[in-house]
Amino acid sequence: MVEGVDGYPSRVVLLGPAGAGKGTQAQVLAGRLEIPAISTGDMLREAVAAGSELGRRVQGSMSLGRLVDDATMAALVRERLARPDARKGFLLDGYPRTLPQAEALEAILREADQPLDRVLLIEVPEEELMRRALLRKRADDTEEAIRHRLDDYREKTTPLIGYYRQRGLLREIDGNRPIEEVTAGLLGLLGVS
Ligand code: AMP
Repeated sequence: MVEGVDGYPSRVVLLGPAGAGKGTQAQVLAGRLEIPAISTGDMLREAVAAGSELGRRVQGSMSLGRLVDDATMAALVRERLARPDARKGFLLDGYPRTLPQAEALEAILREADQPLDRVLLIEVPEEELMRRALLRKRADDTEEAIRHRLDDYREKTTPLIGYYRQRGLLREIDGNRPIEEVTAGLLGLLGVS
């Protein structure tokens, strides 16, 4: 395994359904590992807020809780990972979400000769996800959008679990616990004490 500058896995994907706490955990881990947390959801929301061409293109899918197409996502991630701050590592939050996206990511990282070190799966039961989503109430958190996101996760994203397990990259953690406990568990899985 190729490791990051301090000997820790530094090219990491956080996998899990919307509401599992990926964003929160990505921020904390990124601070500890001194690598950027890259949230494709945040990037797309910024594009929508800025009214850019990309933002106008993805606005509809996002408000319905639908996945943005794989080609758009690959271009976005390729550009982001090419920036200098991602050279020593990154935590990807919200990408990949489909098998074609996982394959695209593998190709992007292969070109850069920077293979993925670890995929951390945060697991939370569906009832708890629905409860968290209704509490959070983001603009795209209508009950229908939440249901779409859960359906898409089950149908399109869960195949990634086997994909990464087969590659020996997957580590799993119970995300239905207090935030600090999950953080400690994730740091443990990354070998950070
Ligand atoms: P998130 O904040 O990760 O829940 O993302 C918010 C929304 O952005 C999702 O509901 C999708 O519409 C879109 N999105 C974010 N990441 C992806 C991705 N990897 N593939 C497709 N759509 C995405």
